[in-house]
Amino acid sequence: MTKVNKKNITDTHSSYNGHLVSYACNDTESIGRRFSETHPTYRNECQRDRDRIIHCAAFRRLEYKTQVFVNHEGDLFRTRLTHSLEVAQIARSISRELGLHEDLTEAIALAHDLGHTPFGHAGQTALNSCMKAFGGFEHNIQSLRVVDKLEQKYADFDGLNLSFETREGILKHCAIANAKKLGDVGQRFVNKTQASLEAQLTDYSDEIAYNNHDIDDGIRYGLISIDDLLKIQLFSEQYDTVNKQYPGLDDKKLVHEIIRRMINVMVVDLIDTSRENIANANLKSIDDVRNQKQRLMAFSGNMNKKKLELKQFLRKELYQHYRVHRMTKKAADVIDALFNAFIEDLKILPTEAAEHCQQLKDKHGDIGIARGIADYIAGMTDRYAIVEFERIFNPRQLSFVNLHP
Ligand code: MG
Repeated sequence: MTKVNKKNITDTHSSYNGHLVSYACNDTESIGRRFSETHPTYRNECQRDRDRIIHCAAFRRLEYKTQVFVNHEGDLFRTRLTHSLEVAQIARSISRELGLHEDLTEAIALAHDLGHTPFGHAGQTALNSCMKAFGGFEHNIQSLRVVDKLEQKYADFDGLNLSFETREGILKHCAIANAKKLGDVGQRFVNKTQASLEAQLTDYSDEIAYNNHDIDDGIRYGLISIDDLLKIQLFSEQYDTVNKQYPGLDDKKLVHEIIRRMINVMVVDLIDTSRENIANANLKSIDDVRNQKQRLMAFSGNMNKKKLELKQFLRKELYQHYRVHRMTKKAADVIDALFNAFIEDLKILPTEAAEHCQQLKDKHGDIGIARGIADYIAGMTDRYAIVEFERIFNPRQLSFVNLHP
């Protein structure tokens, strides 16, 4: 483990009231924060991180950002906010069962999608291609950028000044070239070491959450059907169980009963397999976790096979469904048009965004301008991006009143 600046947490008192195993992330032994702070009263350091995340503007904007379906398509679909809450719920259950730091997993889960663009993965792909000549755009790195730099409301520092352990968990994956620029938190990708078990399990909780809620949303939207899903083992096994116990159940209850069991079997498999890996690794400390050659949190081989089958099904039948594709294409066009309009004429940027671009230009030249525009676009909600597009491109809005936000 690379030595990082440990100037940070002065008091070693922890108010974590669960049982922590010796190889958990113990907040009293945190690698620390980037800027020194005194210990909070009646909270541990991870609770403070979680609370800062919940109170930040980027977290509130998750409510109006697409998970798979754009935000205005229906009130019942998952948004990035409800997705993040589901991830936190799953992650906390796993963390508690394994004696890991539940507050830390919750903080990581709630922050893990803060850097997502409007319009889900379509938005990210479009922004990444706009940023190709300027270092690219990656939502994971952007999430870290949000908590390290872009949230600006504290008197003593930019960002939220989160602890290393939360930041480590937010940066789930990273190309080595980018990792080298990220300092302490990118080091593990260069050294090929591992993140904490809390970070690892939150990453899997993300996967468990979206695989299952995408089935639910996909059925509700009429893009996939129960009959289609019966070809998928993970689904059909739980269908058989539910059908035996409750024959003739209506579809709404049937789907819910199946999905809650699917989440459960995945969580149980992850806990059982990981517990076995942890026992075999004979861990004594968090350093032992980080020095492993591979992740100790893992699904069984059998579950990985079933999961792959489900993911392939969802990719083909749901994410590439023509109706989803029409929406994502349009969304990508909005991002592309906004980026190009701003880069061609910085004068149309709102004052705060223009100042942000200017500051980055002073430091990094033209690359800085592009990064500032990407920050502005990535921070937009779906509806804000659509309104901004209308303001700029719709000639019917050719009045100062309409052009003014
Ligand atoms: Mg996610």
